[in-house]
Amino acid sequence: MPQQSPSGSAHSASSPGGSASAAGPKILDGKTLSRAVAGALAARVAALRAKVGRAPGLAVILVGDNPASQAYVASKQKFAKECGVETFDARLPAATSAAELRSVIEGFNADPAVDGILLQLPLPAPLDGSEFVRMIAPDKDADGLHPLNQGLLMQGTPAPRPCTPLGAMALLDLALSSVALTESTKLDEIPRASLAGKSAVVIGRSQLVGKPMGLLLLERNASVTFAHSKTADLPSVCRAADVLVAAVGVPNLVKREWVKPGAIVLDVGINRLPSGKLCGDVDYAGAAPVCAAITPVPGGVGPMTVAMLVSNTVENFVRRSGVQL
Ligand code: NAP
Repeated sequence: MPQQSPSGSAHSASSPGGSASAAGPKILDGKTLSRAVAGALAARVAALRAKVGRAPGLAVILVGDNPASQAYVASKQKFAKECGVETFDARLPAATSAAELRSVIEGFNADPAVDGILLQLPLPAPLDGSEFVRMIAPDKDADGLHPLNQGLLMQGTPAPRPCTPLGAMALLDLALSSVALTESTKLDEIPRASLAGKSAVVIGRSQLVGKPMGLLLLERNASVTFAHSKTADLPSVCRAADVLVAAVGVPNLVKREWVKPGAIVLDVGINRLPSGKLCGDVDYAGAAPVCAAITPVPGGVGPMTVAMLVSNTVENFVRRSGVQL
C-alpha cells in the first residue's frame, strides 16, 4: 500500500535469507492486492468527498498514439474511476509543440479540481519527458517524479513517491506478512516490514524505478546495493540478497543460480518476447522454486503501479485540502 496507509507496527523479516519453503514460494499477487487497494481508496474517497464537497481529480495527458501508452493510460483511468476519483483527459497529437504541451500542463496546474497530473511517458521526439515533468506543480505530481519530490524522498519527508517502487514495497510487505490475501483484505492488516539486518540488491538505477526503490528499501533499514550494467560479477552480487529487485528491461536476465535460497524476488521488468508473450527480468520458472516469495509478470508489480498512482492522487488531495481524515 501507499507509504502512509499501513498503520501496523514494523515487524522483522523472518523468512528472507532463510531456506526455500518446501511448500513453494509465496506468489505475490499484485492484481488481488491492487483490488484491495481499490476498495480502501473507494471508501476513503467517499468519506473525503462528503467532507470536502468534491472528489479528488486526476488529469491524464497522453501525447501521440503509442499503443502501449494508450493501454497504460486506459487502465489508470479505469482504476481511478473505480475509486471514485474524477478524471480529466488531454489527448494530444504526436506533433504537439512544446509550447502547446506546456500550456496544457499549466492549465491543469491552475485548475483547483485537479490534484494529480499524470504525464504519460515516453513523449514522442523531440519532446523531452523530464523537461515537462519539471513543469508539473510538485503538489499535483501523481507519479512522484518531480525533482522536488525526488529530493523530499532523499530527505525522508512525506511527498508523492514514485509509483512503481511504492507498489513493489507494498508487495514486499505482503511477502513478509502472514495475511492470506483476498480482494477484501484490509490494508492495515499488512504491517510495514522492517528490513533491519537484511541485504537488498536493486538491479537498475533509473530515476523511475531503481534509485527510488533503493531509497525506499533503505528507509526500512535494509543494507542496499545498487547493481547496473557496469557491475562486476552480477550473479554473485545478486546471490547475497535477502531481497532482490530486478528493474532492468532484459528478459529472464536473473537466473535461478543468482537467487539466494529463501530470498524475496520483486520483478519489475515488463518485456515483450518475439512471441508476443510478456515476461519479466527474472527467469520465473527457474527462480521461483528457490525463493520464499516472488512477483509474477504480468500480475505482480504492474497492477500495483496503477494503484499507487491513484493513491498518490488521493494523498495529494488530502495534503492540498488540509482535511483531517
Ligand atoms: P531503464 O531506465 O532502461 O534502466 C534500466 C537499468 O538496468 C539501468 O540502470 C541499466 O544500467 C540496467 N541494466 C541494463 N542492462 C543491464 C544488464 N545486462 N545487467 C545489469 N544491469 C543492466 O529502465 P526502467 O525505466 O528502470 O525500467 C526497467 C524495467 O522495468 C523495464 O522492463 C520496464 O518496462 C519495467 N517497468 C515496469 C513498471 C511496472 O509497472 N511494472 C514500471 C516502470 C518500468 P545502466 O544505468 O548502467 O545503463
